[in-house]
Parts: sequence; C-alpha cells; structure tokens
Amino acid sequence: MYINNTCCHVCLEEFYTRECVLNHIRYTSHACRAALLLQGPVMTMEDDNDLAGADAVEHREHLRIPGTY
Ligand SMILES: [Zn+2]
Repeated sequence: MYINNTCCHVCLEEFYTRECVLNHIRYTSHACRAALLLQGPVMTMEDDNDLAGADAVEHREHLRIPGTY
C-alpha cells in the first residue's frame, strides 16, 4: 500500500516492476522502509489489490525468490 508506481519514493530509485520496488522496501533497504512507514500509505487497500493483481498477471513469468539478487 506504500508503493503506487515503479519508483521508490524515498531513494528515488527506478525499478522494472512494482514488485521489485516492494522487494526493495521489504528486504533490501531498511532505511527506505522506515521512511515509507513514517510517510504512511499512498493509496487505499482496493488500489493495492488492483495493482497486485495486474502485477501477478503481467510478471508471472518473471517470478523469483525474494532476496536472491
Ligand atoms: Zn529506496
């Protein structure tokens, strides 16, 4: 719910997919996660579900185990 595009709002790094941004926030950058949590959600739960569904369909072939890169 804290990410609504493919760019990290904190460090402004651009990612290929929203999922990559989420992995960046969850596993890679604790500083970015802390900053995002302080900022608060940028969208509603419904928006998040829509985006998650779109990501799943679009990137199913590119699934990889989080934290392996
Ligand atoms: Zn970041």
